[in-house]
Amino acid sequence: MAALDMEVTELFEKNDVIKPFGNPKWPCLNFVCTYYRVPVIEKVVVTQSEKTKEPIGTFTCPVCEFRYTRRGPDKNEADKFRKTRVKAYGHVWMEKLQEYSKLEIGLRELSRKMGADPNTIKRYLDNEKEDNSVRASTHSKADRKKWLSLQTQYPNKNIKELKQEERALYMRLYRNDREWMKENSPKAKGVASPARIDWVKRVEEILKRVSNVVEELLNPEEKPIRVTIGKVGYLIGDKALLEKKLDKMPKTKSYLQENVETVEQFQERRILYTIKEYKRKGGELVPWKIIRKSGIKDYYKWLDFINMNI
Ligand SMILES: [Zn+2]
Repeated sequence: MAALDMEVTELFEKNDVIKPFGNPKWPCLNFVCTYYRVPVIEKVVVTQSEKTKEPIGTFTCPVCEFRYTRRGPDKNEADKFRKTRVKAYGHVWMEKLQEYSKLEIGLRELSRKMGADPNTIKRYLDNEKEDNSVRASTHSKADRKKWLSLQTQYPNKNIKELKQEERALYMRLYRNDREWMKENSPKAKGVASPARIDWVKRVEEILKRVSNVVEELLNPEEKPIRVTIGKVGYLIGDKALLEKKLDKMPKTKSYLQENVETVEQFQERRILYTIKEYKRKGGELVPWKIIRKSGIKDYYKWLDFINMNI
């Protein structure tokens, strides 16, 4: 060995007993792989048959993951294209099978196109069907959960509006799980939704608060404040509600229309309040004093009114 300037491993690698399938590369033997019969496999895993002690090579295509074994050793170059058993057909083969199975062709023809016997084809097609149904049922479970949580997220949306939110989900359930969806969706008409009931209750409560505030404003302990929608809104703690949603609360709206004051109405009320205060305190009822005390500038406009009320 030293004379030949060779390493030990190198020597044994040259040995056909150690390398029963020859040197790389080996061909892919998947009929539908682009690399069919093209040497693309760089590695072989060699094991030994327990029964016959013969070497068995396992080859895997790096492109399509087709895996086959061959009982060795190879006797000639042509043996490289021989396979004993297919261990795995790989993703390319499975995809091709699905594609071809959609064509209107018989099992025998399919078997010829796929390079596998009819029984194998049949077995894979059956498995595929089962896988699909398992996948479908898992899918449906997730979809049901999603559909329910969508309703929690949008409690006042009806089924049409939910469909707009999650169109694909709706369509899947409509196709695969229609009965369940029918049972587990907001009712379209007839029964008022919880959100609707809440709103009705809320509107009633708002009217109550509004009327309380207006009553207080009209019967003040201290100097009167003009009744305006803005003031009432401020005092009930929700100015925006009265400014923007009044049309949705007709009772509250008409109540406010009756009770809000024009500037003149307010001035009248202020004058009357002042007169009442003067009387209560036993002060002198002098029109110009009443006018000033009421915060009004237009003396002559209000003189008759004051004289009528003192
Ligand atoms: Zn391949």
